[in-house]
Amino acid sequence: MNKIERIKEKIKETEKRKKEQLLELKELIRRKIIKCPRCGKGTRLSSWTFIKKEYYVYIDDKGNGYWKSRQAILCDIQCPKCGKKIIILGHPEKDKIISYLSPPLRKEELFENIARTV
Ligand SMILES: [Zn+2]
Repeated sequence: MNKIERIKEKIKETEKRKKEQLLELKELIRRKIIKCPRCGKGTRLSSWTFIKKEYYVYIDDKGNGYWKSRQAILCDIQCPKCGKKIIILGHPEKDKIISYLSPPLRKEELFENIARTV
């Protein structure tokens, strides 16, 4: 195997390992238990609904623009047991939740249900 082939092989291996690690990370985070401050029940993160808060960014005075998501800490999560919606910023476990939601995984990979609101 020449040098180019060896490097290509290494890249392939690294990418494969990265995929496996992302999958492992995803499963670990999805299974983390989040306790609801209202009903007191603990449920795995993936069962909560993530409620994306969006706002419209105008790019001109004709009403053209696009929707943008607020940062996760300003979004809500909804308890699957009692239905209570809580802004992540106001959740007693906010630091833990924010660390789970920070990159590299997308919300869609962590939550079974995603809703959006303004
Ligand atoms: Zn609850």
